[in-house]
Amino acid sequence: MTRSAPPPGNLDAPATTVDEALDRVRRNGGRVTSSRRFLLRALFTAGGHRTAEELAAEVQDQAPDVHLSTIYRNLEELERLGVIVHAHLGHGPATYHLASAAHGHFVCEVCGTMIEAPDQLFGGLARTAKTEFSFTIDPHHFAVLGRCARCS
Ligand SMILES: [Zn+2]
Ligand SMILES: [Zn+2]
Ligand SMILES: [Zn+2]
Repeated sequence: MTRSAPPPGNLDAPATTVDEALDRVRRNGGRVTSSRRFLLRALFTAGGHRTAEELAAEVQDQAPDVHLSTIYRNLEELERLGVIVHAHLGHGPATYHLASAAHGHFVCEVCGTMIEAPDQLFGGLARTAKTEFSFTIDPHHFAVLGRCARCS
């Protein structure tokens, strides 16, 4: 999935309710459709770590005529509008989070255990990457792989 330049609405604090998220969609010129509403409700209810297919199954419980391709398109659009972000937790498909609940991930490559890592943990790395390489890291997009306490 490509990341385009964030729209001006991204400067606001991320949405924390379904209605705020729908407001943001409207403000940024997006359309509020019933499939988007169902999708956002599924995201807000489930918290993070849902794949497109899992979210599609939840939306289809309520609206069986919504196709997986519509879900993918909506996820892409909601990400472009700054409402959600996706993360790769290993070799599996991308999982989606609300932008307001974004965080880093440690994933054990032996047993698959996932630990949510607060952004502050990446602060030192982010500063060094910036000052020494002029590189801005994105601590949310990919998980840091390693071994959990049980597997190391
Ligand atoms: Zn990605
Ligand atoms: Zn997460
Ligand atoms: Zn493990």
